[in-house]
Amino acid sequence: MTAQLIDGAGLAREKLIQLKHVVTSLQARGIQPGLATVQVGDDPASRIYVRNKVKACTEAGVHSTHHDLPASSSEADVLKLLNQLNRDPQVHGIIVQLPVPKHLDARRLSQAIAVAKDVDGFNWQNLGALVEGAPGILPCTPRAAMVMLDHAKIPVEGRHAVVVGRSNIVGKPVALLLIGRGATVTVCNSRTTDLGAVTRQADILVVATGKAGLIRRNMVKPGAAVIDVGINRLTSGKIAGDVVFDEVKEVAGWITPVPGGVGPMTVAMLVENTVNAAARIPA
Ligand code: NDP
Repeated sequence: MTAQLIDGAGLAREKLIQLKHVVTSLQARGIQPGLATVQVGDDPASRIYVRNKVKACTEAGVHSTHHDLPASSSEADVLKLLNQLNRDPQVHGIIVQLPVPKHLDARRLSQAIAVAKDVDGFNWQNLGALVEGAPGILPCTPRAAMVMLDHAKIPVEGRHAVVVGRSNIVGKPVALLLIGRGATVTVCNSRTTDLGAVTRQADILVVATGKAGLIRRNMVKPGAAVIDVGINRLTSGKIAGDVVFDEVKEVAGWITPVPGGVGPMTVAMLVENTVNAAARIPA
């Protein structure tokens, strides 16, 4: 059996074209959606991620401003910038690219972003709304995973979903979204004993560990939908997910590739969160 590919890159392109139409209608109402990206320090992977976000904004007609702060910046320096951006009416979305240097408290920085501009969805108020199933800004990667499942018309209600990884930015929120849609959800972590015995039960398997090659063919139920969130740089320089794609595609029903899967959809979701945040501003 060969799995159907869920083409995140293609879906992201379509999403950005749709968003461009929305942006055009907002511009006609005098609203120019704007995203501010903040990077502290010079992490090369972060630089690539920020560049991709800026590029996607440009494609959708969203204005973006990038703020580069030196690695030596104090928490007060970053908070000062975030406060300025919170007050800036041209800015509808703000993100602090993670990771930040160790002397900074990423949690405190995320909480300093105004709830209405928290387009990464990491603020506790937005996360609380997610727990409640109330309106709020949803985190981008978990949303990307759900949009990809929906696009492939994969039923969620009543299915057994297994999420491997329990981080605050991917594992936990994706589990909450799946619970909200009526899946029976199991969440695994690094202490899970016999991971394969759990993952083999999954109708939907979402993997977000940052461990290249973790999920092998014998760990996947035939016909399952496999969403690979992981992004790993191999010693060869290649980018790979957490799932051994060539093996698992032979047994899964659907699979997302890496690169070209959840990554580009995550960026498209960030642009959509920004456009939605701008649309909420009365003209
Ligand atoms: P974290 O390091 O914060 O979390 C990793 C999680 O995986 C932890 O909960 C950890 O368990 C679990 N884990 C690690 N090893 C195993 C194992 N052998 N078996 C089961 N569980 C394990 O990572 P993130 O959630 O931030 O990111 C995960 C991956 O997704 C990374 O590769 C990251 O680059 C990628 N990513 C991709 C995005 C995209 O746009 N596609 C966006 C965000 C992240 P424990 O808690 O016990 O340590």
